Amino acid sequence: MFVYADNAATTKIDPEVVQAMMPAFGELYGNPSTIYSKGREAKEAVEKAREQVAKAINCRPSEIYFTSCGTESDNWAIRGIATRYAAKKGKHIITTNIEHHAVFECLKALEKEGFEVTYLPVDEEGFVTPEQVKAALRPDTVLITIMTANNEIGSIQPIEEIAAVAKSHGVLIHTDAVQAVGHIPVDVQKMGVDLLSLSGHKFHAPKGVGALYVRRGVLPDNLMNGGGQERNRRPGTENIAGIIGLGAAIEKATANLEQDMKHVAFLRDRLIDGILKTIPKCKINTPSHDRLPGTVNVSVKHIEGESMLLLLDMNGICATSGSACASGDLDPSHVLLAIGLPHEIAHGSVRFSFCADNTVEEIDYILDVFPKIAQRLREMSPLWDEANQDEN
Ligand code: PLP
Repeated sequence: MFVYADNAATTKIDPEVVQAMMPAFGELYGNPSTIYSKGREAKEAVEKAREQVAKAINCRPSEIYFTSCGTESDNWAIRGIATRYAAKKGKHIITTNIEHHAVFECLKALEKEGFEVTYLPVDEEGFVTPEQVKAALRPDTVLITIMTANNEIGSIQPIEEIAAVAKSHGVLIHTDAVQAVGHIPVDVQKMGVDLLSLSGHKFHAPKGVGALYVRRGVLPDNLMNGGGQERNRRPGTENIAGIIGLGAAIEKATANLEQDMKHVAFLRDRLIDGILKTIPKCKINTPSHDRLPGTVNVSVKHIEGESMLLLLDMNGICATSGSACASGDLDPSHVLLAIGLPHEIAHGSVRFSFCADNTVEEIDYILDVFPKIAQRLREMSPLWDEANQDEN
């Protein structure tokens, strides 16, 4: 059996999305910046997708800007606001210590350029509170950037309340909603955020296309210099196929959201219950409430996450041990350390993440294979022997 259980890393492109994109690989080849009919056709396709994205997250189409990925959207939002408003507001930014590298590394770069960043600690389930944000505010705070949902453990932050704090202090707020859009309801009006990043490949659109929501009147500096695309704010000839795919995928994801969330949450709970029943001494790192429907992060004490992944792979199961971008290095995940796991337990963690295409049979297959893998690795692990001897 083959089970793709790494949907937080990326998703399979939906066949209907592929169909919608096909014209862009054929006759729909005009440049949307040209004024003849071939160009206008392409422009219309881009504008239709803009409307689809705007409808999905409840904003005006003119507040949506297409980008190349979630990373670009995050960088543009954070750097763009920081540099644009630093002179007026100051050089202080508030974030959390569990953000994605797309946010972290951008903030690190800004620190080198003289910005000061407050990294709010999360609690043992991966949450920050509006009170923490309020206490961290300073007269020179120019931006708050806090993710909507965490990619490793699935905690969903109280963005609405945090945005209310930001608003009452006149500070702009950006949220990285890359793991949220297409998976839970995302409504920028309700959330009250000023900027929001999303990425197509997390909800069955192709890789290499994302979007940034920028509330009307908010003016981040451009990241790149070039032509007048995206109303002079994001230069570069549009990725027509990707943009069409993003529009089609977000429309489909939001139309089926309620029923998909129920199905995926059922799979998540079945996996968590099964793991807790069959694998002794493991810890579920996914929070018990306010969490993504499809994420299960588990630490199996006294064995290495990487060895579990290899054996899972040999049994046809794709999972990951942290965020995909970071799984090449051997440092334990900063998110797992931030929720208080000791290094050795953080090292023994695996993330399974599901989408609506996953089935109960797949979960049961994981539950058949995973405990055997854990047991086999523990039998070979000196750490496991030591731990058992300590107890005897
Ligand atoms: N932010 C979060 C929370 C993510 O999970 C990811 C991707 O893993 C990104 C940003 C980056 O998105 P992209 O891969 O589209 O650059």
